[in-house]
Amino acid sequence: MDKVQLEERVKELNKLLHETGYAYYVKDQPLVPDAVYDQYLNELIAIESEFPNLIYPDSPTQRVGGMILQGFYKVPHTYPMLSLANAFGRDDLDDFDRRIRAAIGDDFSYVCELKIDGLAISLSYENGVFVRGATRGDGRVGEDITENLKTIRSIPLRLKEPITLEVRGEAYMPKKSFIALNEFRVENEEEKFANPRNAAAGSLRQLDPKIAASRNLAIFVYAIGGDGEAYQLDSHAQALDYLDQLGFNTNPERQTCHSIDEVQQYIEKWTDKRLDLPYEIDGIVVKVNRYVHQQDLGFTAKSPRWATAYKFPAEEVVTTLLNIELTVGRTGTLTPTAILEPVQVAGSIVGRASLHNEDLIREKDIRIGDTVIIRKAGDIIPEVVAVVLAERKEDLPAFKMPTHCPACDSELVRIEDEVALRCVNPQCPAQITEGLIHFVSRNAMNVDGLGEKVIEQLFREGLIHDVADLFTLTKDQLLELERMGDKSASNLIAAIEVSKQNSMERLLFGLGIRHVGEKGAKILSEEFGDMKSLAQATVDQLTVIHEIGDKMADSVVRYFDNEEVQKLIQRLDTLGVNLSYTGKRVDLTNLDHVLTGKTIVLTGKLEKLTRQEAKEKIEQVGGTVSGSVSKKTDVVVAGEDAGSKLDKARTLGIPVWDENRLIEELN
Ligand code: NAD
Repeated sequence: MDKVQLEERVKELNKLLHETGYAYYVKDQPLVPDAVYDQYLNELIAIESEFPNLIYPDSPTQRVGGMILQGFYKVPHTYPMLSLANAFGRDDLDDFDRRIRAAIGDDFSYVCELKIDGLAISLSYENGVFVRGATRGDGRVGEDITENLKTIRSIPLRLKEPITLEVRGEAYMPKKSFIALNEFRVENEEEKFANPRNAAAGSLRQLDPKIAASRNLAIFVYAIGGDGEAYQLDSHAQALDYLDQLGFNTNPERQTCHSIDEVQQYIEKWTDKRLDLPYEIDGIVVKVNRYVHQQDLGFTAKSPRWATAYKFPAEEVVTTLLNIELTVGRTGTLTPTAILEPVQVAGSIVGRASLHNEDLIREKDIRIGDTVIIRKAGDIIPEVVAVVLAERKEDLPAFKMPTHCPACDSELVRIEDEVALRCVNPQCPAQITEGLIHFVSRNAMNVDGLGEKVIEQLFREGLIHDVADLFTLTKDQLLELERMGDKSASNLIAAIEVSKQNSMERLLFGLGIRHVGEKGAKILSEEFGDMKSLAQATVDQLTVIHEIGDKMADSVVRYFDNEEVQKLIQRLDTLGVNLSYTGKRVDLTNLDHVLTGKTIVLTGKLEKLTRQEAKEKIEQVGGTVSGSVSKKTDVVVAGEDAGSKLDKARTLGIPVWDENRLIEELN
C-alpha cells in the first residue's frame, strides 16, 4: 500500500470500528461477529504501531468501550475500568511472556481465569453495604445501574465484614436463560439477542428493573478496584480468596501457573471443556499474580500490561468471495458454492463454503468480490453468513444465475414451488455421473474403492452409462484407466460383486428416486419385500403406509411407470443384483428395548461404530436417529470432539451417553 492508500485504509478502519463498536457497546446489537471486529482492530493496531502519525485522537485503539446511554446517571470511576490486550495463539502468548520477563525477571507467577462473556461491572460498598453499581461505559465514566444490579441474587447486598471497597466483576446470562429468553422473544416476534453478552448488557441497561429481574442474570467478581494492597493483600490470587470470604461469587476454575507452558495447558483444558460450562466464555484471562509485579509493569492507555486475554479460535471470520461455482446435482438442481480466499476458521483452513441456493444469494445480496463472513460451528459445513456491506467496492455487479446448464448447455428451468433452478436434460453428463457417484456411495450400494474420480473416468471413457453397466465391468477394462493397478482393479471387481448381495433398501436408495431418502427406502423395502412388488404398487397402497406421504408415493409410482426404468430393473436382475429385502424386519409391537420409540441424536466422533452402523443398530431396536437436538430428543450420544449439539443437550437437560454406554444398551 502506498501512503495515500494507507491513510484511506486507516480512515476506513476507524469508520468501521466506530460503527460496529457503537452497535455492539451502545445498542447491544452487533453488526458483525467479534472475530471481524477483532480483525479490523488488529489491522488498525498494526498500521498505527508502524506509523504513529496515523493515530487519530479518537481512534478506537485509544479508548475503552462505548458511550454512556441517556437516561442513566453518570458515575465517574475512581479507578479506570480498562480493557484487556488480546492474544490469539501460542505466538502471542509467548510474546506476552517475553515482555513480562524482560521487565520483571523470571521469578513470578500467573493466575489464569476463565474469560466470562458478559459485561464488566463495578460494585461499590460502604461499611459493608452495597451502595452503587455501574457499567464500564467509556472506561472513565459509567452508567449507574444500581437498581438493576440489586436484582442479581449473586450480588451480596451486605458483606461479611463492614468494609468500604470497590470490586469489579462480570455480569452474565447463563446459557439456559439465554436460550429460553431468545425462544420467548421469537414467540413474541421480537428480535433475538446475538449472544449472551449482548443479552446481559441489554437487560442491565433497561430503565425498568423488573425487566432485569426477569432475566436470571448472575455475576462472577474478579478483582478489587484500585489498590489491593490497601487491604493487606499481596497478590491477585489472595484477593480472589478474600473476595470469597467477603461473600462474593468468584469463579472457582482459576489456577495459579508458574510458567507459560502451564498457562498453555490450562488454555487447552478449557478449550475442550468450555462447552460443558453452564455459561459462555470467550477466552482465558492471564494475569501476573503479585501486585508489586503489576505495579512494575503498569498500564497502557487502554489496558494493563500485566494481563492478556487469550481468545479462543473464532468460529466466524471474514474473507473474500473469489467466485461462485455452480454444480449440477444428480436430480439436475444447480447448487452454488462459494470459492473463498482460504482462511483459518476454528482451527482449520476453509476455501469453500455452502451458499445453499439462489434465493439465499439474492436475499443476502452476495456478490463475487465481496467481503463475506464465514461460519463454521461444530461439525457443520462452513457457510456464508453475510456480506460486510461496509466493505463493498463500488460498481460490484449483482450475481446472476446462468440461463443454461454449465455441464450440458441445455436451458435451465424453474419448477413451480421450487427454489432451485434445474437442468431437465436426462442425458446431462453431470447428472448421470452424480447419480452414479450416489449409487456406489457408502449409504447406498457401498462399493469400496469406487470414488468420484474413477466414476468420472469410467463415464468419460464410455465404459458406463447407467448403474447397471457397473456390473458388466471387467478387470481388463479397469486396467485401462489412469492410475489403476492390478491389485486395485481386482479389489474393485470384488467389491462390485459383493455389492450385488446388498439388501433391497440400499439399491432402492441408490437409484436416486426423488423424495425417497434412506429412511423412505428402508420403509418401502420392509413393506414390499422386493423391487417387483414395489414397482407395481399404486399411490393408494403406498400412502396407507405410515410415514409415506403423497409426494413420495407419487414419485415412486411415476418412476416405475417409466419404460426405461423397467428395462433397467430387468437388467439388474439378469446381472445378478439382489432385488429383495434381506435385512431384519423391525416389528415395533414386539420390541421392548430402552431405545424403542426413542429419538436419539449422534454427535462427535464415534470410535467403535461408524455413524451408519450406530444408526442401523438403533433402528433395529426401534429407535429413531435424528440430526438435531430439541426438546423431543430422548438421548444424545456424544463421541469425541462433540460440539454444539452436546452443549444444547446439556442446556436442555437431555441425558448424554458416551459410545460405550450406547454399545452396552444395544447389546
Ligand atoms: P475484552 O472483552 O477483550 O476484555 C476485557 C473484558 O473482559 C473486561 O472488561 C471484563 O468485562 C472481561 N472479563 C471477563 N472475565 C474476566 C476476568 N476473569 N478478568 C478480567 N476481565 C474479565 O475487551 P472489551 O474492550 O470489553 O471488548 C472487546 C470485545 O468486544 C472483543 O471480544 C470484541 O470482539 C468485542 N466487540 C465486538 C464488536 C462487534 O461488533 N461484534 C464490537 C466491539 C467489541
